[in-house]
Amino acid sequence: MFTISKTDYLIFRECRKNAWLKMHREDIFYKSELSEFDKAIIETGNVVESYARKLFPNGILIEGRDSAAQNITLAHIAKKTSVLFQPVFQKDGFLAALDILEFNAKTQGYFLYEVKASNDVKEDTHLSDLAFQWVLLEKMGIGIQRAHIIHLNSDYVRVGALNVQKLFNVEDVTDAVKELLPHTETEMEIAQQYLSQEREPAGHCDCISKGRSRHCSTFAYSNPDVPQYGVHDIARIGSSKAKLADWANDGIFCLEDLPDDAELSSIQTNQVDAYLNNRVLIRKPEIADELQKLKFPIYFLDYETCPAAIPRFDGFSPYQQIPFQYSLHVLDTIGGTPRHEEFLSTTPGDPSEAMIASLQKHIGEVGSVVVWSKKFECTINQELGERIPAAKTFLDSLNGRVYDLMDVFSKQHFVHKDFKGGTSIKDVLPVLAPELSYKDLAIQEGGTASQSWDKITSGQIAQTEKNQIARDLKLYCERDTYAMYVIWRYLQDLVG
Ligand code: SF4
Repeated sequence: MFTISKTDYLIFRECRKNAWLKMHREDIFYKSELSEFDKAIIETGNVVESYARKLFPNGILIEGRDSAAQNITLAHIAKKTSVLFQPVFQKDGFLAALDILEFNAKTQGYFLYEVKASNDVKEDTHLSDLAFQWVLLEKMGIGIQRAHIIHLNSDYVRVGALNVQKLFNVEDVTDAVKELLPHTETEMEIAQQYLSQEREPAGHCDCISKGRSRHCSTFAYSNPDVPQYGVHDIARIGSSKAKLADWANDGIFCLEDLPDDAELSSIQTNQVDAYLNNRVLIRKPEIADELQKLKFPIYFLDYETCPAAIPRFDGFSPYQQIPFQYSLHVLDTIGGTPRHEEFLSTTPGDPSEAMIASLQKHIGEVGSVVVWSKKFECTINQELGERIPAAKTFLDSLNGRVYDLMDVFSKQHFVHKDFKGGTSIKDVLPVLAPELSYKDLAIQEGGTASQSWDKITSGQIAQTEKNQIARDLKLYCERDTYAMYVIWRYLQDLVG
């Protein structure tokens, strides 16, 4: 009999085929390395759990998952140890390591606590997670009385030392979990049968009716007839599951096979049309109108930030972005050469005040502030202003002068087949300025930049490595603002 872990079961609930591949075809399931983003999620989960344990000062940690760890767990259960971290149980082909198990001396029963590094309870996954644990412990004759989710409290604002009691919300979800128990027990048996079958389940996987961003690393294996670029890549098609399912039923995976009467939005139509007809759509008058909104000097600005789950400084809440770096290219006149300014904090404290002081030195009272996807930069400015009221007028002025260069592309004034329906700077730059890609950089996207900053400010690396990472961060951020200047230049030359 196969042993189904809690993780296997949760993957199974999301996708049977993927869970089967995990158990039987490790070569396929683990083929692609975890992305930096995935690694960061795992690391964040571990950090948050370590803080949540502080709510139970006398807890005992069980290390490992093997039979020795299971025996240690059972020995603690026998002597009614009050709190266990990571106790591990196995019975009837099911295995789970629990985050926190508490023996309540008053009620003579057990309370389950599942720690989640999120700001709320995700009903579909978190409750099923607890229901699996509850069913397994009942099989072992261990009576559970209450079940809880411990998650981060988004209303908490750090002031001074971290207040762990206020950092977390402990939600009692006993009733909701109890309701799930009969269904979970049945579903666990179905998972056991499905995942034990030796023969690989045939056919497409369920994500055939989901957009590309929802596909896992085994999608290409399970769906070899789906091209690398096709109907799953149409912009926002993920919200039209029924449409994708219909196309899949009719064997339509390539853009070339879409029926003439396929219902598409104007953005989707532009994308498909540009691809099928190898056409570039350029609306020069509209682009000229956009660019005329800009006033010199033009400040091309980009921030890098780090969303710390556990607030590191006063004034921050869980996952609030810490801005730690900016790059700025300043263009004084239309034919001028941009000059570069930058800021990067490499010390452990809150970078906000030093960063604002640097910005104030380099950004004057007039002129447009050009960014890419303005919601992000504007939110950072707004939050900085809330934390540092003395700088609010300056930061409000920046937001009042912001121009989003992405508008030219999101408003569909410029559509190229090689943008592939995207409007991010990483979609546009390689097409308009192929010589300026990010491929030569050690840091190529924001998630890695954020983790790199975390690394150099956590004080656990040698100075030489720290210096190298700081150089890489500067090169990456500078590329973003220079790219904006180059794209602006391209558009400006286009419209004369
Ligand atoms: S892409 Fe396929 S295999 Fe992967 S999660 Fe989706 S349905 Fe499952």
